[in-house]
Amino acid sequence: GHGEDGIYRSLFPPVPIPLQTHHNLPALLFSGPLADPSNSSSPLLVDSTTGFTIHCGDFQRLAKSVASGLSSILGVSQGDVVLLLLGNTVYFPILFAAVLSIGAVATTANPANTAAEIERQMRDSRAGFVVTMPDLVAKIGKNGQGFPTVILDGENVGAKFFRDHPRFVRFESLLAVDESKFPSAVRIRQGDPAALLYSSGTTGPSKGVVLSHGNLIAAVSILASKPRDNDDKVVTFILLPLFHIAGLIYSGCMMIYLAVTMVVVRKFDLLHMLQCIQRFKITNLPMVPPIVVALLKHPAVGNYDLSSLRKAGSGAAPLAKETLEAFLAKFPQIQEFSQAYGMTETTGLGAGEAPFGSAGLLAANHEAKVMDVDAGKTLPPYSRGEVCLRGPCIMQSYLNNPAATAATIDPEGWLHTGDIGYFDDDGFLFIVDRLKELIKYPDDDAGEIPLACVVRGSGEEGKSLSKDEVMDFIARQVASYKRIRAVTFVPSIPKSATGKILCKDLLQVTRSRSKL
Ligand code: AMP
Repeated sequence: GHGEDGIYRSLFPPVPIPLQTHHNLPALLFSGPLADPSNSSSPLLVDSTTGFTIHCGDFQRLAKSVASGLSSILGVSQGDVVLLLLGNTVYFPILFAAVLSIGAVATTANPANTAAEIERQMRDSRAGFVVTMPDLVAKIGKNGQGFPTVILDGENVGAKFFRDHPRFVRFESLLAVDESKFPSAVRIRQGDPAALLYSSGTTGPSKGVVLSHGNLIAAVSILASKPRDNDDKVVTFILLPLFHIAGLIYSGCMMIYLAVTMVVVRKFDLLHMLQCIQRFKITNLPMVPPIVVALLKHPAVGNYDLSSLRKAGSGAAPLAKETLEAFLAKFPQIQEFSQAYGMTETTGLGAGEAPFGSAGLLAANHEAKVMDVDAGKTLPPYSRGEVCLRGPCIMQSYLNNPAATAATIDPEGWLHTGDIGYFDDDGFLFIVDRLKELIKYPDDDAGEIPLACVVRGSGEEGKSLSKDEVMDFIARQVASYKRIRAVTFVPSIPKSATGKILCKDLLQVTRSRSKL
């Protein structure tokens, strides 16, 4: 509830979080339902295309072999950073646990990123090892190819590929390593870094978000504490990318801990998803808003048996109330629809269990404040301001960036989210706007696309500059989702006295010009 001090406290009872200094995420994963012998023959990770299955009872042994291989074959040791440049695969959670279990740090990257973006992340994170797939090898660039690299899905590439790259190791070789090679002397502390995920935060270029073992342990403990119905078998469809915090913490960690069956999709395709729901009798379907919209619109939806569905959810971006209502009307078999709000800097937590239109109730063990953006004072329910969060899932820092860290986490430990929202009297959070320079692409329905505002130069070249030239210029440098989709030529860029670009004013200028 909302206290007199202006602080909102979680309405959920506090969740006990293991506090021993020498505790680490993999140890937690291996101590819960996953390790329960009664679950050992239960499917844990299923490849949606081939049906290949890893069972609960095999997970820890596989992770230990991979960890032993990383250590003994590649030479990964405590504190080293390993880049996971991977699309979704059943081995993703195993690799993540393996890297963390030897005290190394996993940095994940979107495979859609360009070679230049990957190179920048490798340099910034000081990654010295890579795990990737043959079709992504070109993205690690000439320099990156000097690093010891594990190759997944290498079965079908010829031996020449491995001869040409002597530092490439087949993933299968790691799986074959004896557990006796596991570096058991390694001591990991909860405060040690575990994951380095890249996010732009509220402004500027992408930064490394340092998440500790303690952050991940807290997040898994809190997410796993939610009461669950045990009567029916849960089969979750995993289409959200595991490199992003939402997929990583919910599927790559919490569902592993809870031994939930996950059908993992390598490449999202709506028809494939419909086939899978029918084939694997999917019960739980976590989505992002554009997929909810696609399920509403696609004509093929009626051709499949989707009666197994019981729960669905959406996160990572706002979902319109009308969309949700239409979705629930179209799929009456879905008894529960959950929305969640979170960010990389909060280990994916924040709020959840939401009714229509809300981002949900504040996560257990967390506090929130809504701050007046100009006056800097806390606001009561129904007043809009910047949402600030405090609790065990708040990141340690932005890597090697004390200025950005200080601008985001204040001395009292409040993380300033850059999101504008308010709480209602029942404790539900509503996110209504963003203060920060972040947009979520796609799409036409959500209404957020990257747009460039360009001031033409006064010379001949400037005068003839076309929108296509601007779009092509950017397209050559960035992942496709960061490409410019619209260009507006403006007379000037509005700036504050300190030189900060006034985005809201710029949008005004853009809107008024597009009306002309
Ligand atoms: P990322 O770190 O990439 O996950 O981005 C985090 C940001 O996504 C948040 O700060 C919000 O701006 C936005 N976001 C995440 N979940 C929601 C939600 N349920 N409703 C509205 N915005 C959201």
